[in-house]
Order: sequence, then structure tokens, then C-alpha cells
Amino acid sequence: MPNETNQRPTKPAWRAQTQLVHGGGVRSPHGETSEALYLTSGYVYDSAETAEARFKGTDDGFIYSRYGNPTVGMFEERMVLLEGAEAARATSSGMAAVNAALMCQLKAGDHVVAARALFGSCLYIIDQILPRFGVQVTLVDGADLDQWRRAVRPGTVCAFIETPSNPGLEIIDVRAVADILHAVGAKLIVDNVFATPILQKPLTLGADIVVYSATKHIDGQGRAMGGVVLSDAHFVNDQLVPYLRHTGPSLSPFNAWVLLKGLETLDLRVARHCENATAVAYFLDRQHGVAKVRFPALASHPQHNLARTQMSGPGSVVTFEVDGGKERAFRFLNRLRLARISNNLGDAKSLVTHPATTTHQRLTPEQRAHLGISDRMVRLSVGLEDVEDIKDDLAQALAAA
Ligand SMILES: *Cc1c(COP(=O)(O)O)cnc(C)c1O
Repeated sequence: MPNETNQRPTKPAWRAQTQLVHGGGVRSPHGETSEALYLTSGYVYDSAETAEARFKGTDDGFIYSRYGNPTVGMFEERMVLLEGAEAARATSSGMAAVNAALMCQLKAGDHVVAARALFGSCLYIIDQILPRFGVQVTLVDGADLDQWRRAVRPGTVCAFIETPSNPGLEIIDVRAVADILHAVGAKLIVDNVFATPILQKPLTLGADIVVYSATKHIDGQGRAMGGVVLSDAHFVNDQLVPYLRHTGPSLSPFNAWVLLKGLETLDLRVARHCENATAVAYFLDRQHGVAKVRFPALASHPQHNLARTQMSGPGSVVTFEVDGGKERAFRFLNRLRLARISNNLGDAKSLVTHPATTTHQRLTPEQRAHLGISDRMVRLSVGLEDVEDIKDDLAQALAAA
């Protein structure tokens, strides 16, 4: 069974939806239909010689679930097939994936570039933690390619972007940024959470490393935390695996099992999320008391054309402003009955958040203003409910606010 190495049985050339249901599955001798859940921390060896061979790496079996686990391995393999990567490692959360993808390749004196518009904790790692270890950081406006050209230099090791970004849904040209980085030998890491592995393939656009919070659409039903890093075999085996093995942010086998079940329906769910979110975006765009509806499928989105070439669908998050400032935004949130106030996203349930006072509270007012995160801004993760019920709920809350 595959473990530390990347030797796998020859993969059948199944199409994506089939891989989501079957990819990476390894049946035990019991022939179970659903993937087996191996809740075990360790493994026993037939002999002292086998134990020695496992530790030497000449025998492929499992050693310890911090290093690898059969259920976690099935999740990693299914993600590899879906993403078109050479290898992957799962982590206990999306942030563990982001942290490992950066830390495993950086040392004091290195230089990192990142887009300013990032998920709060990603920004914290980049602008607070990395500098403490002597890593130099340059933040740029991700959509401005001139800023990227000016920021890179010899010594730039990697860059980190999120596209679409949270919560402003800014789209970054992955291929153009990858080209700028590759010219100085640097790697591009893409946090692909908002696009999901269904709608955008960063590796085929030239990115080197992709990270996910599997907590979002991959689970998609609010149950389990998880993350995953995908890249080429060299990066995964030589840089990522040693870092993960010894620092230990391993994914629980139970959560891996939940995420495997999530992958089986990911394509169906993402399609419905996109359909509902598109209907909601057009609906909000026509409402009185609503301004600046941000959604990649709307022609008014500043990078609408780039979104169309880079993504195969617009995603599940709609960002908009309600007239009247924070008080009215809060009244609107408090009046919603179906969409609930929560900072999670990509969930079957519609969830709404006020970024300025929650996910982006840590930023200074100037930083928020630069990113367009006003007190009037609301972020809506559109769920899988009947879209007419979502629209009714939004309409009544807008009227009542
Ligand atoms: C949620 C999220 C993360 C962090 O993932 P966790 O699973 O919550 O640790 C990172 N990046 C983006 C874009 C996210 O939305």
C-alpha cells in the first residue's frame, strides 16, 4: 500500500466525476463498499527486520499515523487525481496546510511576495510570523502585475495568493503571476479555496503549489476540519513531507473519511452552489438598498473576463454592500432567518458574515479601506437551499432593516 513514496498502481483513466467517487480507494480484504476508516495511531510489524526496512524506506508500509494512514492516504490520492498534481499531503486544517506549504521551504533571509487581499490567518502568517524568523515579505495589490514585477528579486523563494480573494472576490491572473515568479526561480502557491478544485486548476495555469481548506466545500456540510497541499513529487517528498512528519499537523483518519465522502458529491454541490449564487447575485443587483454587488459572473465585476478564462464557474460567495453603514448591515444580518450568521463558507447552509467586524477585524481601518472592506460590506456564502427561499429571506431582511 502506498505510504511514504509516490509509487502507486497504474491509475485508470477515469474522468473527474468518476475519480471523485472512486479515485484512490483501496479495499481491505473485507471488500467494503465505502472506504474503510482506519482509526489507528500505529502499525505492527511482522518482524524486527520489517520494522527496520520501514524506517529505512525500503519497505512501503505504514509506520505511524503522524506520517501516514490508509484512510488519509485515500483522501490524498483522490485529491491528487482531482487536481492533476503529482503528490499531496493532508493536514489537520486549512491553516496547517498554508503554514506547512510556506514554512517547509523558507529560511531566514529568504524573500516572499504575497497579495494583500488574503484570508485573515494567511495574512497573519505572512506579515506577522514569517518576519519573526527573518523572512522578508513584500505585499502587493494582486491584480496589479506591475507591482508583482517590481516586487520579485533574486532571493524571492515563493509567493502566496488567493483567487478569488476573501471577501472582495478580486481575481488574480495566475498564469501572468506564475511567469513573473518563474523568471527569478520562485514558486507560486495558490490558496484555491474560493474557486474549489472543480472550478479552477491552478497547476495547469502555471502555479507550483495548491493549498485547500478542506473544511470548506470539500466537506461542505459543516462537519470536519481539514486541509491539503498539492504539488510535484519533488516538493512534496523532499520539502513538505519532512516538515509535516516532524511538526505533526496530521489529519485525523476520521476527518479524512468524512472528506472522502464529501468529495463524492463535490461536483454536484459546487454546480448547485454556483447556480444559486448566480441567481442571488443578479437578484441582489436589482434590490433597492443594496450597492456594489461583487460576483465574478456579473459583467460589472472588474475582472469579469479574466474570471471567465481562468475559472469554469463563478463560485458560491457573493459580496455586497447595504446602504447605511454598520448599523444597517447589522440590522440586516440580525433579521435574516434562513441564512445564518457564521464565518464559515462553502457550506450546504447559506451563511452570512460582516467581514469588517469579524474575519478582518484585526486589520487597521486603513488596511480595510485599501482592500475595499467597508462597514457596509456583507459576505454571503450561498448554500444549497431552494434559491427562492434564499431570495425571499434576503428580501424580507432588507425590507426590515
Ligand atoms: C477557511 C480558509 C482558510 C483556513 O482554513 P481552515 O480549515 O479554517 O484552517 C484558508 N484560506 C481560505 C481562503 C479560507 O477560506
